[in-house]
Amino acid sequence: MALKQDFMNKIYFDNSATTALAAEVIEVLIDSFQTTFANPSSVHGLGKSAKKKIEEARTFIANSINAEPNEIFFLSGATEANNTVFKACDYDLIITSPSEHASVIEPAKASGKEIFWLNLDQEGYISLDELENILAQNSKIEALDKRPRIPKKILVSIMHANSEIGTVQDIKAIGNLCEKYEAIFHSDCVQSLGKLDIDVKNSKLDLISASAHKLHGPKGLGFIYIANKLQESIVDKAIIIGGGQERGVRSGTENVNSIIAFAKALEISLDPEKRNKVKELQKKLWMKLKNLKSVVLNGPQNLENRLGGNLNLSFMDLKFNSEQLVLQLDLRGVCVSSGSACTSNKKNFEDSFIESSYVLRACHIDENIAKRAIRISLSWMNDEAELEKLTEIITKLV
Ligand code: PLP
Repeated sequence: MALKQDFMNKIYFDNSATTALAAEVIEVLIDSFQTTFANPSSVHGLGKSAKKKIEEARTFIANSINAEPNEIFFLSGATEANNTVFKACDYDLIITSPSEHASVIEPAKASGKEIFWLNLDQEGYISLDELENILAQNSKIEALDKRPRIPKKILVSIMHANSEIGTVQDIKAIGNLCEKYEAIFHSDCVQSLGKLDIDVKNSKLDLISASAHKLHGPKGLGFIYIANKLQESIVDKAIIIGGGQERGVRSGTENVNSIIAFAKALEISLDPEKRNKVKELQKKLWMKLKNLKSVVLNGPQNLENRLGGNLNLSFMDLKFNSEQLVLQLDLRGVCVSSGSACTSNKKNFEDSFIESSYVLRACHIDENIAKRAIRISLSWMNDEAELEKLTEIITKLV
């Protein structure tokens, strides 16, 4: 069947907010809608076949992050995964950062537990020294100086790659510290899955959250990875209880078709050629735009250290603030965003025109720069002609 991918003549550079379904994913979806409709809990042949396909997808996803298949639990997306972490884990103190996604920040606050917010530098990095200090001051592990303290059960939640400014945290170093001080380590890997290598064992990760729609898969499907050693305590505290699907972590008939499509989308994203293409496009766009007058790159200055495809830019000579520039570009057929798509639901109309992104503010970026910032997020579906068009449009505006 010929598949039409119609972007209505738009240039889509908002791939951190969500992505278009890949053609191969659409094919897999159509096929599975037609053939794999039975309830995976049914004992007849069709049910068993649906169950088998879920297990194949689970095994593929688990292998890609060096986890065991029984450590992957499907649910509705990363928001649910992040909520599950804060509702179901056993902890007294949360250590996190102010640049996390709202689906980490809000459940952390709602937990009513003590929170330590790590400081960020201008490029969005946490300080490993600060993290170690806080862990040492609060952990059950006795400090060398034997200072008196009340030991706490600690949950560290640090995202792998930031969705707005593309900062990639050193999750291996964070994992080593968490292991040393016996803290639970969770990472929101929504922006990095399929784009950066993730090895849950090597990085001593206890929990990760991921979502299919950020890598050309369907919306409404994600997974939580829960290391075997934590599972017993978490299953008893699931948010959604009922038929006991996903071994009790997430009840409800499995979203079989989307699960199969998620594995396909991940397989496509892991293709080294596609990953390189995104990095190349990112470099090329920055080379084109960096010569424009008064452009500021927010976040890591070294593109090698930045999440592929992400550019967060402020055009200081333009009279537009972030949202006005997003609208100007939209009028010219280009989709980008200011800040994170999910937070824009929370701002009221007037605020949205004066408030800058909370992530940029957390990185101490000058308000004048922050309020002009736009995020351009590329994917392997983009091409050089689109970069050229954007450069032309921005050059004219400047
Ligand atoms: N975490 C990050 C870093 C995100 O970018 C998003 C989506 O915007 C989420 C979590 C929420 O994911 P979902 O849409 O699957 O709930």
